[in-house]
This record gives sequence, structure tokens and C-alpha cells, in this order.
Amino acid sequence: MSHVGIIGGGLGGLAAAATLAARGHKVTLLEKNGWLGGKAAVLEEEGFRFDMGPTILTMPRVLERVFAEAGRDIADYLDLRRLDPQWRCFYDDGTVLDLRDDPKLAAREIGRLSPEDEAGFERFMKVADRLSDVSDRFFFWRSVEDLRDTMDLKQNMSLETLRDVMALRMHRTVAGQIKRDVRDPRVQQMLEHFIQYVGSSPLASPAVLCGIAQMQQGEGVWYPMGGTRAVPQALVRLGEELGVDYRTGVDVEGIELEGGRAAAVRLASGERMAFDRIVSNMDSVRTYRELIGGDAWKRFGHKNREAACSGVVLYLGLREAYDHLAHHNFVFSRDPQEEFRAIYDRGVPAPDPTAYIAAPARTEAAVAPEGGEALYVLVHTPYLRDGQDWARMLPEYRKVILRKLGRAAGMDDLEDRIAFERALTPQDIHERYKVLNGAIYGLASHGRVNGAFKPGNRSRQVPGLYLAGGSAHPGPGMPMALMSGWIAADSLDGDSVSNVAAE
Ligand SMILES: Cc1cc2nc3c(=O)[nH]c(=O)nc-3n(C[C@H](O)[C@H](O)[C@H](O)COP(=O)(O)OP(=O)(O)OC[C@H]3O[C@@H](n4cnc5c(N)ncnc54)[C@H](O)[C@@H]3O)c2cc1C
Repeated sequence: MSHVGIIGGGLGGLAAAATLAARGHKVTLLEKNGWLGGKAAVLEEEGFRFDMGPTILTMPRVLERVFAEAGRDIADYLDLRRLDPQWRCFYDDGTVLDLRDDPKLAAREIGRLSPEDEAGFERFMKVADRLSDVSDRFFFWRSVEDLRDTMDLKQNMSLETLRDVMALRMHRTVAGQIKRDVRDPRVQQMLEHFIQYVGSSPLASPAVLCGIAQMQQGEGVWYPMGGTRAVPQALVRLGEELGVDYRTGVDVEGIELEGGRAAAVRLASGERMAFDRIVSNMDSVRTYRELIGGDAWKRFGHKNREAACSGVVLYLGLREAYDHLAHHNFVFSRDPQEEFRAIYDRGVPAPDPTAYIAAPARTEAAVAPEGGEALYVLVHTPYLRDGQDWARMLPEYRKVILRKLGRAAGMDDLEDRIAFERALTPQDIHERYKVLNGAIYGLASHGRVNGAFKPGNRSRQVPGLYLAGGSAHPGPGMPMALMSGWIAADSLDGDSVSNVAAE
């Protein structure tokens, strides 16, 4: 079996490492930071524990599959709790709406707000279900770069395939689909926020991504006890049991090609490490631009790739928790059009943003001193533009965010409850994780036809190179980044088996 080098220990890199080791490959993982898990990092200070990046875990079946590769049961590694409500939504007009875990109860809650939308929501979820099913069959669990990779239209053109193609609604955006099914602007705003899981605008993203709603409503929102940090910890434990060699504090500066093939990595220390194959969990654009360059970078087609949104996170250790919050909360902007146009079109922070709040103490009291809360507040911002200096912008924007929470979510004494505070800005995200322009969620999913496609997991430009992570197929977010790691590993494993067979 081959010796595989993995660049980066984010969720995609860790899932690739465990899967490859389970299939018998020798794996060395190189991570520049002092911890493994990438954005799924933890901040622990003064009795508070915050997940620094992802907080909402969906589709645990992806994780289950990674553990099943090694014949392990995920329940022996992670204690996952299903949350209800999935989100609590606060609106500028004072309305509060719970997105319940049970789709029937969710529809009923929506009906209380807007009677005609009870059926509208159910209609939308049927469309989402169909789109999620098409994604499962054509898009997930294999390396895909464009429509040609999903369906072999020439070979398999049948009535059934045609129906699947029609189901993709390639002429429509996420926002367009939602408007067809539900009428109340508050319900529309809530459904539009599913696309924020991939850091893109509902006004520009293809309708097929409405399937995300079903992936959450159908499969639940989960909290791993110990925080989302427990996910990379579990993967690292699995990898260790399978013999993965993890090295932290190792920055990779280049990938060396031999005869056009990925053959070795060059470290910042000057050392060279040779591998049979390489998986990059670094941002895909930066992998080609900074680690490889030359002809492969030119052929990568980077001109069509735009970064997804970035964000500001406030980690607020509170002396006293707010009892009216659920575990996951959205405090919506006064005007979603204004918000999305600012972030995605004009490239400036929204004047009145949507704030996402995690209040995990209601599920796990240990995150804060007794009676307190480890409050996590995330506001999406544009990806980094020239001249944007967040060290200067943060103090003002922090005030905008706190005013918003006071006005729309009944937290007007928030400042008085704060005992501990830290922040993460787009600049920090850019530097900590080596991403593209500070993007949280890899590459934007904009474009009605091609928006859902990302660089494939098996490089078309460099044989022996594989891509895993949120800026490769199938995209960002915990389940997708994990799946990308599995696909990269599966593609690599398949290629090495067919190589051995050919020799
Ligand atoms: C604030 C925030 C909130 C989020 N909320 C959610 C959420 O609620 N739910 C959800 O599902 N997702 C969420 N996400 C997105 C999710 O965290 C990411 O999609 C996912 O974790 C990305 O995983 P990845 O495999 O792409 O690796 P990353 O986390 O990007 O890690 C890549 C790793 O590679 C390392 N690396 C890069 N270049 C090199 C190099 N040259 N040499 C060595 N090492 C290198 C980096 O240091 C890093 O550790 C959030 C992200 C952030 C930042």
C-alpha cells in the first residue's frame, strides 16, 4: 500500500487520514497549527469553554461512515444529542418562531405565524427532500467537478434521468424556489438562511441547494457532548488506533512534482518529504496557487472561483445565562435583501446583520461557571476585500451587533453580563487556517447552473494529488468537509488498487 502525505488536519484531512489508514495505507498528516481539527477549534479560559468555529452538527451519518470504514461504532467515540428546537428565530418585529425537530410540528409552528404557509412549508420540504435525494444519488460520495461527472447523460438518458435533471431546477435560485412555496417574509427569511451554511447568497445560489433544508429537517441537529471539538478529537483517536502519524507545527510550503506527478512536499523548515500520493486539506485555490503554481495553477481555472463569506465571532462569557434562548438561535436582520446585497454584492458588512447565537449551557452546563453561559455570536461578513482592516473595524461593528441583540432578542443588558470576551475576525480566520480571503465556507456557491460544483477531489491537473476540505467537492460545513475527506481517500485508494492491478 502507498505512503500518503496529508497537508492539513481540518475535518477533511482527519476524515481522509482515518479512512486511508482503515484501508491499509501508511498515513502521515502535517498540520501547521499546534492543534488538530482546523476551524473546529476550542477556546477555554476563565471557566468558559467555547467552540470557536462550527457549532451546528448535521448529517451524523457521514461521520458514522468514516468510523464504519474501520469497523467501529461511532457511539463508542461520541455522545451525540439531538436538539429540539433546531433553531429559535427572533425577528425585528418581535416575533419568535421555533424551527421544531419534528417536521409536522415545524409546519404547525409556522402555521401559527402564517396559516397558509403550513402547507407551503410542507410543499417546500417535499421539494427539498427530492433535491436531497438527487444529491445523494448523483453528487455525494464520489469525486465530482461538473455536471458531466454526475450523470452520464449520453449513456443513461432515460425518462428517470430526465426527471432527475428537471428536479435540479437549474433555472431557479434558492430564493426563487422559497418564494414559490411560502408567502410570509419571516418564513422565507428563515428558510433562506439554510444557504448560509455554505456562506452564499440565496439570491445567487442554485435551487438544488434547497436540499440542505431536508438534510437538517430530516436528519436532525446534533450536539456532541464536549462540544463540536469532540468530533476532531474522536477522529484523531480513531486515526491513532489505526496508526496515523500526526505531526503538528509543520507548515507545508510546496508540493514537488516529478514527471508532472505529486511526489513530495517541501516544509517551511526546508525539509523534503517524499510520498506516493498527497492529499491537500488546504484551501483548494491556495493549494494550486501557492503550493504548486506553474502550468497546473493556470489550468486550474481559478478565475471562476470566488470566496464564500467570512464572519466575525464574539465569544462572550456571561455571569448569568439568558433563559429565553434555545441552544441555537438566529436574530434576523430587518431586511434580508439589504443584508445579502451588502455582504455578497457590495462587499461591506451589513448595516443591520443577522446574528447567530449558540447558548450551549442549556445542553451541557459544564461550558460555563454555574448559572453562566458561554455565548457564541456569529455574524457573516463579506470575504476580505482590499483595504478592510478588521482590527480597526471590529470595535464599531461589535457595537452594531450588541445593539441588534439588545433590540431584537431581548438582551439589552448583555454588556453588563459579560465577564469574559474574545473575538475572531475575518483577518484572524484568514491567518489561522490559510483560507481564501478569510472565507469561512470555502468557495461561494453562486451561479444557477454551476454554483453547486467545486474542484473535484481527484485533481484533474496533477496526478497523485487529491483535495479534501470545504473548498473542494462537495463543499463546506462539517458533514460536507468530512465527506470530502472520505471521497479523497476513496478515490486515492481506488487509484492505487487499479495501479497495482495494472503493474
Ligand atoms: C466561525 C465559523 C463557524 C462555522 N459554523 C459552522 C456550523 O455551525 N456548522 C458547520 O457544519 N460548519 C460550520 N463552519 C464551517 C466548518 O467549520 C468548515 O466547513 C470545516 O470545519 C472545514 O473543514 P476543512 O476540512 O476544510 O478544514 P479547515 O478547518 O479549513 O482546516 C484546514 C487545516 O489545514 C491546515 N493547513 C492549511 N494549509 C496548510 C499548510 N500549507 N501546511 C500545513 N497545514 C496547513 C490549517 O492550519 C487547518 O488546520 C464554520 C466555520 C467557522 C470558521
